[in-house]
Amino acid sequence: MPDTADLSGYTKIDLKGHYILPGLINMHVHLAGSGKPQKKQRDNEKLVNTIMSTSLTRAIAYRMVAGFAKDELLSGVTTIRTVGGLGDFDTRLRDEIKAGSKIGPRILASNQGISVPGGHMAGSVAVAASSIPDALSQLKKSKQEKVDLIKLMITGGVLDAKEKGVPGELKMPPEMVRAVCEKAHADGYLVAAHVESPEGVRVALENGVDSIEHGAKLTDEMINLFKERGAFLCTTISPALPYALFDRSITNATEVEQYNGNVVFEGIIACAKAALANDIPVVLGNDVGCPWITQYDFWRELYYFHKYVGVSNSFALYTATKRSAELAGIGSLTGSIEKAKPQT
Ligand SMILES: [Zn+2]
Repeated sequence: MPDTADLSGYTKIDLKGHYILPGLINMHVHLAGSGKPQKKQRDNEKLVNTIMSTSLTRAIAYRMVAGFAKDELLSGVTTIRTVGGLGDFDTRLRDEIKAGSKIGPRILASNQGISVPGGHMAGSVAVAASSIPDALSQLKKSKQEKVDLIKLMITGGVLDAKEKGVPGELKMPPEMVRAVCEKAHADGYLVAAHVESPEGVRVALENGVDSIEHGAKLTDEMINLFKERGAFLCTTISPALPYALFDRSITNATEVEQYNGNVVFEGIIACAKAALANDIPVVLGNDVGCPWITQYDFWRELYYFHKYVGVSNSFALYTATKRSAELAGIGSLTGSIEKAKPQT
């Protein structure tokens, strides 16, 4: 596009072939993981219990989490939205960064998510609520920790499924989704939900969820539900891609895991395409903490968005900056380079 802006009164700076860009916004982050692939699936619940059981191991884990947040910043990400973490680490770190005692990106924090017994991440970065009162008391705890958003784990994930074709099985009862969303909204919080199947998308949107994390193939009914709800989609191509496309000798995935990885990978891409075609807002997150995703490679998610969803490079950049800032409610602080806007 020819630059026709009137620049009188401005100082021109020659960037010598470089570009200037607002800080990237990674909308789906778990600060507790390095992304290092494991030979065998770990028992995350056991691991987290061990880590959180003594003040020494908790302090080590907090240092690790703070280091990961710094990695995000040093890779060009100036805002992260956390969607499942250890204890109250995310809000603590958010406040320390804000106060200037730690270096890291702006954090929109959910702390631990809410799952159900046997549900996604239950016992690790989410608590297992066995009843609606249980879920509501976790919501109260999150509120006391001054979180910025609430995270629900409504369906299972790729590696949770034990059979072919059932990744993203519905785990959380619809009544629980509704009860949490109603109370969270009354208290002024938005609710993000881990969803990896069509049934999960429907249950989430029918019961008040504000953002679908990951997604699945959409029907016309679900597209209408998205619009009625005014919900947005957080596309995450990075976590499903290795299980779908890497050779199993590299991922150590079973045939079932690879099959399901492919279902989720294709579902996420189809969901993003359908959302964009129907004017449903889309943001990007790389689900770092999952195997093969590091705290410094959010740029890959933008590249995948371009490659697999077919958007232009500039649209991918817009999505990971201005669009995300608006949908995260921080559009006046970040997302674009404008006069009187803070640096990040
Ligand atoms: Zn996640």
